[in-house]
Amino acid sequence: MRPKIVAGNWKMNNDLQQGRELAESIKALQGEIPEPVNVIVAPPFIHLADIGRTIADTRLKLAAQNCATEEKGAFTGEVSAEMVRSTGAQYVIIGHSERRSYYQETDQVVYQKIEQALRNDLFPIVCVGEKLEQREADQYFSVVAEQLEKSVFQLSAEDFGRIIIAYEPVWAIGTGKTATPDQAQQMHRFIREKIEENYSSKAANNTAILYGGSCKPSNAEDLFAQPDIDGGLIGGASLKSRDFIQISQSFTL
Ligand code: PEP
Repeated sequence: MRPKIVAGNWKMNNDLQQGRELAESIKALQGEIPEPVNVIVAPPFIHLADIGRTIADTRLKLAAQNCATEEKGAFTGEVSAEMVRSTGAQYVIIGHSERRSYYQETDQVVYQKIEQALRNDLFPIVCVGEKLEQREADQYFSVVAEQLEKSVFQLSAEDFGRIIIAYEPVWAIGTGKTATPDQAQQMHRFIREKIEENYSSKAANNTAILYGGSCKPSNAEDLFAQPDIDGGLIGGASLKSRDFIQISQSFTL
């Protein structure tokens, strides 16, 4: 069966001391995480090594929020997938809508980052999702299909086996406006069908597809009860340890 995952994207929040405190308080609550649920924290790059040490030997796993398209060299300010891996991180978020819109990341860039992540033994958490105007114009399926085709569907079946997908409708991120469980389920089902078309029914069954967009303790249970939703990528609510842990307890097990 595919894994159940709750990943917290801290974005550009918390200085090092605050980040440490948040990691410590999540760690203190880790005994409350239900056994089959994988909980991942994604602090800013600069905190990775430190927080990696804090959560070593716990059930918590570490992710970066991004990585470079290139392997190494004269790319001032960039952080390579190899550097991310060397901090103990096992996952990396790639293609978040904030990267796509504020830093002009195209599907081609997303693909290059996925390749770097895979080469360095990281599990990519690849974000896809439509903007509000695309939802309103009924283009959401075609937008997501194109994002998948130009990025993860370029991979071999073996490499695709390491991919986690996060469906994050852009209009629901940080807005307090969540996709309804039906809307999210419909898209997750669609993504799973596309995986089956491109790879196999086994790949479709085994791929974890997370929902992201104003997911919080009050709506996580209804979202996670959907058959094709395998967990969440959580922004705002991951900055409060109690809320974050409560979300991890929202699966019907
Ligand atoms: C995110 O940034 O991936 C996200 C889902 O944010 P929020 O939960 O704050 O909407």
